[in-house]
Amino acid sequence: MESGDGWITRIRPHGGRLSPVQATGIASAVREHGNGLIDLTGRANLQIRGVTPASHAPLIEALRALDLIDADIGAEQRHNVIVTPFADPETDGLAAELEAALTASALPLPSKFGFAVDTGPAPVLQDIPADIRLERGADGSLILRADGFPYGALYRSAAEALALAEWFLAQGGAPEGRGRMAGLIARGTPPADAMLAPAPVLQTPAPGPVPQGMLVGLEFGQIEAGTFATLAAFGPLRVTPWRMLLIEGSAKIPALPGLIAEPGDPRLRLRACTGAPGCRHAHAATRALARRLASHVPKGRVLHVSGCAKGCGWPRAADLTLTATPEGFDLIRGGCASDIPQLRGLPPARLPEVL
Ligand code: SF4
Repeated sequence: MESGDGWITRIRPHGGRLSPVQATGIASAVREHGNGLIDLTGRANLQIRGVTPASHAPLIEALRALDLIDADIGAEQRHNVIVTPFADPETDGLAAELEAALTASALPLPSKFGFAVDTGPAPVLQDIPADIRLERGADGSLILRADGFPYGALYRSAAEALALAEWFLAQGGAPEGRGRMAGLIARGTPPADAMLAPAPVLQTPAPGPVPQGMLVGLEFGQIEAGTFATLAAFGPLRVTPWRMLLIEGSAKIPALPGLIAEPGDPRLRLRACTGAPGCRHAHAATRALARRLASHVPKGRVLHVSGCAKGCGWPRAADLTLTATPEGFDLIRGGCASDIPQLRGLPPARLPEVL
């Protein structure tokens, strides 16, 4: 993808996990061929920014040497699988089987159509966008569930996940190649044999120690390549969809700039897109403003500062959204960056008081 600060290159780590060698190699490649920064996306992918037409090919070769490049673009797009970072060996096996089946298939699924493997000790991905979910019931059984429907069917193999995706296509879920499972279900099409309820989400993960290692938050989901390499020295990295990395098997991580180690850190309440000057569509420098406003965001609330109505930084509703416009900031309560604002054209100086 092209952006204001060069091309953006996405890495979709297999199984959502990077070995220390892979993570260190990515950090080197980012320093050499990108702008030194790595973004963690809401779908647990990595993005390298600041790539140029000249640096793109050597970057891809460096990533290929780390076993991070698929055979072709179609295979890369099809293995759109998000895996719980708290994966046990069984979950890793399920994710690998599903990725392999998707890669080998020729299913013409929409580009955003994705799968979630959420079969760790407790479900954590139910709020994360996905179309087909692999979960556990309260008794530990494996359940395959279409997003948007409360019940699923007993899961035995990846072939059943592919069959559910085929069912989605056969039911007209993607006219003209676009569409999502929840939209099809909302139109009143229930999947067959779906009678099992998944276990509910108990708690959204927060930075700090977890049984699998240490979760660290990244300010705005971004990390400097040197910090990424430092973390990789402590163990394999699991990417998450919550702008956090899980460092496997590590009980303590040094305090480094941009890392969030405390669950009460006000920066965890912030969402902000790249904004100016990195994005040429931006009407404001979003991240500097969000930092200044952090202490004004009530505990437990989320503030999204968006450089324009596209809302790339948080493409869903937030408690408070500030959308930059040529006339100032629009304030939206409980909505997305493009929703109808309650207040329009606010100057930056008024924002603390308004929040
Ligand atoms: S929301 Fe707008 S300003 Fe922000 S990164 Fe996306 S396109 Fe750019």
